[in-house]
Amino acid sequence: MLGGSMPAEQAAQFDAIARLIEGARTVVVCAHTSPDGDALGSGLALAEIIERTWPGREVTSLLADDDVVPRTYEFLPGADGFVRACAYDGSPDLFVCVDLSQPGRLADARAVLERSAHVAVLDHHPGGEPSWDAGVVRTDAAAAGIIVAEFARHVGCELTPTMAQNLLCALMTDTGCFQYQNANGEAFCVASSLVEAGASPSEVSLHVYQSDRLAYIHLSATVMSRITTFEQGKIAYSYATSADFAATGVPVAECDGLVDLVRRVDGCEVALFLKEVPGGKVRGNLRAKSDRDISSIAREMGGGGHAAAAGFTVDGDIDEALAVVLPKLRALYARAKGTGTFAHSAES
Ligand code: 5GP
Ligand code: MN
Repeated sequence: MLGGSMPAEQAAQFDAIARLIEGARTVVVCAHTSPDGDALGSGLALAEIIERTWPGREVTSLLADDDVVPRTYEFLPGADGFVRACAYDGSPDLFVCVDLSQPGRLADARAVLERSAHVAVLDHHPGGEPSWDAGVVRTDAAAAGIIVAEFARHVGCELTPTMAQNLLCALMTDTGCFQYQNANGEAFCVASSLVEAGASPSEVSLHVYQSDRLAYIHLSATVMSRITTFEQGKIAYSYATSADFAATGVPVAECDGLVDLVRRVDGCEVALFLKEVPGGKVRGNLRAKSDRDISSIAREMGGGGHAAAAGFTVDGDIDEALAVVLPKLRALYARAKGTGTFAHSAES
């Protein structure tokens, strides 16, 4: 709670994290696989906070995957300093998970975590099994960046313009530019303090929302043309296949925003976007526009996330993934109507 008083338990956990950093020489900061703006921005800001507040620590920002930083986020201050986990052979004194509290979402970085002496967590995802030495997980925080900003304040670190820019990107992307249900007063309050500290909303917006490649826009058009609705328009989905990626030359990792096209449909409460990813798998993004909790469906599909934004990865192709996930989505409405069976309705 920026500006307000922090619960004693959270303050104690922040103190415990600070002690772990104090006692460490080598520190690794790492977020989840397929990193988004919150994962990257929060991680970079935290690495800078640690470097400035505890000089002499060797701080490494790790990427969980054997992949580059998504093009959209290359502008983030410090983004050129990321090291891929598979190229990091150290055994750090401290491993800090940001925007993540489940080791299963660490991809290659899990091996680094297992070689680390201590683990700390700063996160806002529900459902993690506490297995760390110290951590703060606040599921009511709009972004992990909120918790990183609180940590900076707690340890007396004044935000630099670069920390602020990274944190504002975290906050803007996880709230969909303050449009989603998680855009609460705290999110606006922290955003205001970040702009005061030198962050530029227009620059984040320029890079994240106004710099699409033409090929991406063409792929978006295909995805939009395929949007299909069920349950009187309450469920909307679309997809992109490996063939689409090959035809347009758009990297799969750059398609995180496509689910937002699906959620635009008037009256749709649940949006699903599926894409075929390398390794014969399908990645799904689920979004809820109402207060319906779709994280349980993501979990049933082997993934997880928040009530209104969750994801999963399954083996197979689009048709196979749809065959499993669509009945689950329709059952959400069947259950709500108390029929106990799938509701049949005209598909549009
Ligand atoms: P996205 O659909 O943008 O990838 O993810 C939406 C939210 O759900 C994010 O907060 C993300 O971290 C979380 N999420 C996505 N995929 C998974 C998954 O496979 N497991 C878990 N636990 N969380 C996920
Ligand atoms: Mn996040």
